[in-house]
Amino acid sequence: MIDFTLNDEHRLLEQSIREWGAQNVVPFIRENDRKHHFDRERILGGMAKLGLLGISVPQEYGGAGMDYISLGVASEELEYLDTSLRVIMSVHAGLNCLTLLAWGTDDQKKRYLMPQARGTKISGYGLTEPGAGSDARAIQTTAIKKGDRYVLNGEKSWISLADVADHFMVIAWTDLEKKKQGDPSGMTAFIVERTFKGFSSAPMKEKWGILAGNTGFFKMDDVEVPEANVLGTPGEGFKIAMFALDQGRYTVAAGATGLIRACRDASVKYAKERKTFGVEIGQHQLVKEMIAQMESDYQSARLLWLRSGWLKNNGMRNTRETGLAKWFATVASERAAGDAVQIHGANGYSDEYPVGRFYRNCKGAVIYEGTREIHKVMQADYLLGYRTDRPTRCELPAYGVKSEV
Ligand SMILES: Cc1cc2nc3c(=O)[nH]c(=O)nc-3n(C[C@H](O)[C@H](O)[C@H](O)COP(=O)(O)OP(=O)(O)OC[C@H]3O[C@@H](n4cnc5c(N)ncnc54)[C@H](O)[C@@H]3O)c2cc1C
Repeated sequence: MIDFTLNDEHRLLEQSIREWGAQNVVPFIRENDRKHHFDRERILGGMAKLGLLGISVPQEYGGAGMDYISLGVASEELEYLDTSLRVIMSVHAGLNCLTLLAWGTDDQKKRYLMPQARGTKISGYGLTEPGAGSDARAIQTTAIKKGDRYVLNGEKSWISLADVADHFMVIAWTDLEKKKQGDPSGMTAFIVERTFKGFSSAPMKEKWGILAGNTGFFKMDDVEVPEANVLGTPGEGFKIAMFALDQGRYTVAAGATGLIRACRDASVKYAKERKTFGVEIGQHQLVKEMIAQMESDYQSARLLWLRSGWLKNNGMRNTRETGLAKWFATVASERAAGDAVQIHGANGYSDEYPVGRFYRNCKGAVIYEGTREIHKVMQADYLLGYRTDRPTRCELPAYGVKSEV
C-alpha cells in the first residue's frame, strides 16, 4: 500500500537538518555565495555529523541505514537552504555511493564505500567532457589495459566537487573498435583516486550559479588505475553511468521541490509585507496566481519524488518515474524562481533578498542529469514504445535488503 505520511524517523531528520541549517547555513550563505566560497569544513563536517553523507547506505558499510525516502527528505531540506548543499547529496550520496552499493565488489565497498558513507572521503561522478554531455557516446577518455592496470587519458568537464572529492567514478572507452562505432558496450566504469599520479583538477571560474558550491574539471594524463578498481565488469560502464543517474536524478527532483518551496515561502512573506495601491501585493489577483502556481508545482513535484522513493524502497525499477519527477520538478523550480523574483520587484533583482540566488541556482538542474529536452524525448519515447527499460545485472537493493554482488 502506498503511504505518503512521513514517519517519525523522516520527521526527525527533517527537523535536524532545519536546526543545523538555521545555525550553519542561513547566517553564512549570502556571503559564501557572493565570494564563490565552498565552506568545506562547516558544510561537509556538519553533513557528515548528521549522517547525511551515507544516509541510505546500510550500517554494515558505515552508513546511516535510512530508507530512500529519507534521501529525498534530506535533498528537499538541503536545497531549501541552498542548491550547493543538495548537489553534494546528488553526486556523493546519490550518483556515487548508491552505485558503489549496487555494483561494487566487497573489496571496493570496504576501500571506498565505507569511508565515503562515514564522510571521511568525498566522491564525485565523471561522465561529461568538453565535447560530450547529452551525447555520452561522444566521450573521448580512453582506458588502455596494461598488465593488471588500466592507463586512463582524458578530460572531464563540468564536474561537481571536482576540486573537493577524493574519489571519482569515471567512464572511459576500453574497447577502441567499439569507440569508433559509437557502441557503448565498449565503455567501462572506474574508481579513480585524486592521489593517483597524473590526476589534476581545477575549479571553473566563470560559473554564474550555485556559487557556494564547487564545480570544475579534471584531467587524467596516463593515470594508472588498478584492475581491482573496475566497477562492474569491462563493457558495463555505460549501463553503470545510466544506473547512477537513476539515483542522482532522484535527489535532483527532491531538491528542486525544496527550491520551489523556498520560492513559495519567500514570496508569501514578501507579498504580505509589500504594499502597492494601498493594499498588500498579495491582494492582487495576478500575484495570487503566481503564488498559487508555486503551491501547485510544489505539491505535484513532491508527490512525484515520493513515488520514486517508494519504488526504490520496494526494489522496483524507477527510471521512467524518476526521470519524470526530475524533469517536472526542475522545470517547475525555474518557473517558481522567476516568479519569486517578479513578486519581489526590484528588490528581487538584488542580493538583499534570497530569491535572486534561487533564480541563478535553479537553472543548473534543468541542464544536468539529463537536460529538459532529453527528459521530454525520454518520456515521449516510453509512450510511443521506442524505449523500454531492461533489467540491469545489479539493481539498487530494496530498503532493508542486503545488496548482492
Ligand atoms: C552546475 C553543473 C554541474 C554539473 N555536474 C556534473 C557532474 O558532476 N558530472 C558530470 O558528468 N556532468 C556534470 N554536469 C554536466 C551536465 O551533465 C551536462 O552539462 C549535461 O549533460 C548537458 O550536456 P551539455 O552541457 O554538453 O549540453 P549539450 O548536450 O551540448 O546540449 C545542448 C542543447 O542541445 C539540446 N540537445 C542535445 N541533444 C538533444 C536531443 N537529442 N534532442 C533534443 N535536444 C537536444 C540540449 O537539451 C541542450 O539544450 C554538470 C553541469 C552543470 C551545469
